[in-house]
Amino acid sequence: MVEIDPFEMAVQQLERAAQFMDISEEALEWLKRPMRIVEVSVPVEMDDGSVKVFTGFRVQHNWARGPTKGGIRWHPAETLSTVKALATWMTWKVAVVDLPYGGGKGGIIVDPKKLSEREQERLARSYIRAVYDVIGPWTDIPAPDVYTNPKIMAWMMDEYETIMRRKGPAFGVITGKPPGVGGIVARMDATARGAAFTIREAAKALGWDDLKGKTIAIQGYGNAGYYLHKIMSEEFGMKVVAVSDSKGGIYNPDGLPSADEVLKWKREHGSVKDMPGTQNITNEELLELEVDILAPAAIEGVITKENADKVKAKIVAEVANGPVTPEADEILHEKGVLQIPDFLCNAGGVTVSYFEWVQNINGFYWTVEETRKKLDDKMTKAFWDVFNTHKEKNIHMRDAAYVVAVQRVYEAMKHRGWVKK
Ligand code: GLU
Repeated sequence: MVEIDPFEMAVQQLERAAQFMDISEEALEWLKRPMRIVEVSVPVEMDDGSVKVFTGFRVQHNWARGPTKGGIRWHPAETLSTVKALATWMTWKVAVVDLPYGGGKGGIIVDPKKLSEREQERLARSYIRAVYDVIGPWTDIPAPDVYTNPKIMAWMMDEYETIMRRKGPAFGVITGKPPGVGGIVARMDATARGAAFTIREAAKALGWDDLKGKTIAIQGYGNAGYYLHKIMSEEFGMKVVAVSDSKGGIYNPDGLPSADEVLKWKREHGSVKDMPGTQNITNEELLELEVDILAPAAIEGVITKENADKVKAKIVAEVANGPVTPEADEILHEKGVLQIPDFLCNAGGVTVSYFEWVQNINGFYWTVEETRKKLDDKMTKAFWDVFNTHKEKNIHMRDAAYVVAVQRVYEAMKHRGWVKK
């Protein structure tokens, strides 16, 4: 298989979406390029006294709709192309849920597992010193992503605040912080909860009365998979019949043990596999189960032209990024499966990040209930914006999500006079 360059893929997806809408060539050309690409050297004093220089990136794809927003990845295989692609996808993700942001992304080429905690702290602070000029609460707002976490966000916020000598609202420079230093209480389950709201609306769109007793299989048992199991079973009364992790999955047609029991088992045994009261299945079998809803919440490219025809679920909720390949999109669409495209389905995380930022710049903090209600409103509205476009134009849900998002960014560019047509 020829590996396609991630940024090339992001550009192709945009070109595809453009066919379904009325967008000028000049706007399209602009949207195919990030507005700012920053590459920095990130020197770190190691514990043994030597100095190592890492390479860091920050890409701001488009800020027509507001400050750019998106996570920072620490990954040994990080590339500028990946960061550019991810920044572009963030532009669409924040636009589809109608946040007043553009898309950004950052990364450092590093294997954080090889660093001590103090080295990680120095790396976080050094990165902020390097990108300080291009970030800020009204410029570009990073967040956690692959191998970064709330602790790292707190160090980064602190470094930013130290440089600016506390002259201004520093909390809002970064989201995903721990509560107590500007973090929001409802961030942990935000992605799963956002996905749950879109699933509930998708069920309505198919004319189902509610989700009670309906079955769901979830691939992946990281943060999103675990919380989705918990929320769908405990709050929506669904029967979660299968879950999995990278080592394999478990199945029980009458419903699995509770999410907390499964998580405990996984922690003790290194996998969900072999749990009493369930039968083992493979990750491939999980995708083909006789269920109402399928939620791929692990990795990309799991539903392909080889297995799409065997998917029996009526709704596919793409909690992971890119779990369905373009050929499989066609097959699922033909079969009448309702897909909730990734950048809509998993936008709950960045939406709650937005709420964190709103609270930071106002210095006023909401309750968990208020936050969840606001998340519900955002996700519900976004789902119907996409679903109605899908119906009106008779295009896939993914194409519809692109049309909604790109149209919003295009409008903002026209209002600003960046493009005249
Ligand atoms: N990294 C997450 C995402 O890509 C969250 C971004 C954010 O919270 O700003 O959606």
